[in-house]
Amino acid sequence: MTLRGEGKEALRKVLKEIGFDEVRFAELDPPIANRLSEWVEKGYHADMDWLARSVEKRIDPNRVMESAHSIIMLGTNYWPSDPAAGAQSRWAKYSLYRDYHDTIIRGLKKAGSILEAHLGLTESDYRYYVDTGPVMERGWAAASGMGWQGKNGMLISKRHGNWLFLSAILLKARIEKDPPLRKGSADQSNSPELGAHCGKCTRCINVCPTEAIVEPGIVDSRRCISYQTIENKGVIPRWIRPGIGRRIYGCDICLDVCPWNRFAKSGRHLLLESRYGITDLTLLDVLTMKIDSFREIFRKSPIKRLKLRGLLRNGCVVAGNLNSDSEWRQNLSPDWRTPVRDALLDLVAHEEAAVPPHAIWALYRLFGSSIREDVKPLIEESGNELAIDEFSWWERQSKEEPECP
Ligand code: SF4
Ligand code: SF4
Repeated sequence: MTLRGEGKEALRKVLKEIGFDEVRFAELDPPIANRLSEWVEKGYHADMDWLARSVEKRIDPNRVMESAHSIIMLGTNYWPSDPAAGAQSRWAKYSLYRDYHDTIIRGLKKAGSILEAHLGLTESDYRYYVDTGPVMERGWAAASGMGWQGKNGMLISKRHGNWLFLSAILLKARIEKDPPLRKGSADQSNSPELGAHCGKCTRCINVCPTEAIVEPGIVDSRRCISYQTIENKGVIPRWIRPGIGRRIYGCDICLDVCPWNRFAKSGRHLLLESRYGITDLTLLDVLTMKIDSFREIFRKSPIKRLKLRGLLRNGCVVAGNLNSDSEWRQNLSPDWRTPVRDALLDLVAHEEAAVPPHAIWALYRLFGSSIREDVKPLIEESGNELAIDEFSWWERQSKEEPECP
């Protein structure tokens, strides 16, 4: 039996009442078209091997849950209610909430109970994920008509722009699918055209500072600031650091520019807990942070995944870009150079191997080779090979490009 008509709408209504702003249904057959294998073959997943290992499952939801027929796609609007938090660009907007995995899962648990009551299912008849399983959430959200996959690779909603957390419930019951968004010849397959409502717009592609959107909808993670500042646990390639600019955690550049965001409004946030206070941190707060403060400030925040070493590493990169960036400088004192220099010199001697090379990079960017005599003994004492490598690179640079007398 297939749930349709009034029964389907009643289910949609009750799922919205528990906090989901978008509730859409899709059928799992036929599978959605995708280029995941090609994406992995080209190495665009960088070192996210867990993605490469789960390609087969991601392509075929029945490998995730046998006999699943339908998928419920749920969207939670996270556009911030504080305009200042929405306007800042230092922290990815999604990170200004308590970790959404922890809060949205509460809604999914309630949704499970609702499915049991409405459809007579048992716990083994459905499985839910919030960005935690091998499910292609964006593709299925597009198939369900929640929006379409934009040229930035994200799910774009006509009502919410780029700002939806996506979660999914696979289930063995059959629910009549919602139509994908119509465009021109009304594509009703499970694979609506990529960029269906982007038209001739290419803003997201043009604006990416590291040219990570290598073709419409395809992002090379190795070039992407989100990957480099969050997923990469080691050294950030030198060439990409200037493009990171002021971004200490994640990147919303290609999301922010999308014209469809003009319809975005702050929502009910029933499944979210805001942590906008994080935006009050100054760069000096970041560069001098110690483990106790890190644990307290980022408790229950997705940023805790970075660990202190990742935060300090990213802080160094942002510090190295201060000369060309006024946003972080605004909340530093006019004589910011001295305390930033001292903080960076402390980080040259940091015990976590990946932090010092970025501190050295920032010092040379801010102070040129005049910093050499301060940095050299610290490196010699630490013996950190990554730091030695960074220092040697700057030594070579200064020989190749002698300073003006
Ligand atoms: S998130 Fe940033 S770096 Fe990544 S593709 Fe978008 S604009 Fe480029
Ligand atoms: S910025 Fe333009 S091209 Fe990119 S996703 Fe938005 S509408 Fe599409």
